[in-house]
Amino acid sequence: MATEVAAISNLRPLVLCGPSGSGKSTLLQRVLKEYPNKFSLSVSHTTRKPRPGEVDGQHYHFTDFESMRKAIEEGKFIESAQFSGNLYGTSKESVKKIALEGKTCILDVEVNGVRQIKKTDLNPWYVFIRTPSLAVLEGRLRARKTETEESLRKRLDTAHVEMEYGMQPGNFDKIIVNDVLDEAYEELKQFLSVNVLKSD
Ligand code: ADP
Ligand code: 5GP
Repeated sequence: MATEVAAISNLRPLVLCGPSGSGKSTLLQRVLKEYPNKFSLSVSHTTRKPRPGEVDGQHYHFTDFESMRKAIEEGKFIESAQFSGNLYGTSKESVKKIALEGKTCILDVEVNGVRQIKKTDLNPWYVFIRTPSLAVLEGRLRARKTETEESLRKRLDTAHVEMEYGMQPGNFDKIIVNDVLDEAYEELKQFLSVNVLKSD
């Protein structure tokens, strides 16, 4: 699929993927804070309800199933997927906006989104974030206190499948085990400086 992004910018986007609770948001917020002029987050659309503190248009574009299905049918999305009972997706507009600003776009997507992005001309770097174990993942998701027991179960069930895809050789350019946060961040920064920021 042609995303229209390649025609605007030659900066390769960065895709962050990993089970819910693995630390993607935490790590990417650090990147955005340290390199505000270099990176920007693609704001996804979702049908899930905002968590306390989440701002529409900043963390997500919060929408409903019907509007999102219609926009997907109209070809407005690069990828979209169902996750834990909700729809999530990356609009062409959100990625194009960042390309026009001359910044590197960061996408935070689950594995089905990654599979779809691989069929487009976006050509990003792929980084998989994981925890040392699924037990640690569960502990972090519980400590975050954002999920109901049902939503937590769904996310942990999906995490098994995501880990399998993430650990398969060739699927990602880099796998980072987010054990000690500062160390994981250093590893990500190292990857960014050697690869993503190299062509700057
Ligand atoms: P994701 O965006 O992948 O769902 P988050 O960034 O929200 O994950 O992280 C899940 C929870 O784990 C958050 O409460 C976050 O503060 C915490 N967390 C992230 N990294 C670490 C770490 N290395 N050690 C301990 N807690 C962490
Ligand atoms: P959360 O509800 O915790 O914000 O996100 C749940 C999952 O949806 C995470 O794994 C996150 O990476 C994924 N996600 C967020 N935005 C998108 C998107 O635009 N597309 C896809 N495919 N997944 C997304």
